[in-house]
Amino acid sequence: MNTLKIKYTGSTSLIPAAEIIKNGGIVAFPTETVYGLGGNALDPLAAGKIYAAKGRPSDNPLIVHLAKAQDAGKYCYTNDLFYQIADAFMPGPLTVILPKKSNIPDSVTGGLDSVGIRVPSHKIANELIKLSGVPIAAPSANLSGKPSPTEFSHIEHDLDGRADALIDGGNCDFGVESTIIKLNGNEIILLRPGAVTAEMLSLFCDKLTIDKAVTEKFDGVPLAPGMKYRHYAPECPLTILEGSDEAVYEFLSCREKRGVICFDEDLPHILGKYVFSCGPIHDSLKQAQNLFSCLRKFDQIHDIDIIYARMPSKAGIGLAVFNRLIKASGFNIRKL
Ligand code: AMP
Ligand code: MG
Repeated sequence: MNTLKIKYTGSTSLIPAAEIIKNGGIVAFPTETVYGLGGNALDPLAAGKIYAAKGRPSDNPLIVHLAKAQDAGKYCYTNDLFYQIADAFMPGPLTVILPKKSNIPDSVTGGLDSVGIRVPSHKIANELIKLSGVPIAAPSANLSGKPSPTEFSHIEHDLDGRADALIDGGNCDFGVESTIIKLNGNEIILLRPGAVTAEMLSLFCDKLTIDKAVTEKFDGVPLAPGMKYRHYAPECPLTILEGSDEAVYEFLSCREKRGVICFDEDLPHILGKYVFSCGPIHDSLKQAQNLFSCLRKFDQIHDIDIIYARMPSKAGIGLAVFNRLIKASGFNIRKL
């Protein structure tokens, strides 16, 4: 497949990309979370192309992206809590799961009777939806199982020749995928943590429950089907280290052929060629922004056997960093 590449400079027209979507093609585009791979959400064949391009299992649903929250009622059954949350967080990095209407094809939702609705705040994403004139179904624009793409080079690596167009809009703002929630009466169930945090959402409901699959290995049927798949994983195995600074430095000093993901403050204390910081220890947003590109860097390095990552904070957007790291590690935590 010949892939059109569009470098967005601020005045670049997105009409060619919107035409591709209208005509049933698929386009990778930046959002404020990660890059997405989108097609017409009302066209079952477009969803099939997305699954094929990513190598994604077709029971792992796509998220439906809208230009404004007021459009949600066309595609799903909304309620008062949805609009309260939408007023606070949409456009923004939040997906809400709601019962779907029949115009959303089963292929988009992996056969589920619910649909994930998101209104991206990113200028390119929002304009692309408006110009296409249809809702855009999109998962993250990585090959299935790989770390999500947060830079143009990542989508070029994964999707050149597999998508009809790739839009270069620079680096993504948050670096982790959207927060996903389900509403149950006045309760919010957090299915995937992201930049709209549990702390922020708890102000809008009587009860906020964090689904078990966010923090623990889970063998049942997950509420968000994507959570059952191995995710975000670099090619090399990854272990999270939990322990004091001294214990971690001592442990790493005795290990050869290892890569390390740590914090800025650790850099003077950990020797070796493949030691990458994802940001300052108390800056979870920076860590979120850098995590996936750190993980991807290791796929270019062939003389390591294992990657060790320091345990991040679980507060605020830190919960999203922790969630992606434990999934990348296959829930492999070593206590020191
Ligand atoms: P991605 O953006 O690549 O992480 O993919 C979208 C993710 O959203 C899926 O893997 C699911 O975890 C979640 N999702 C989308 N639609 C639904 C739904 N109807 N019910 C539960 N989870 C959903
Ligand atoms: Mg994904």
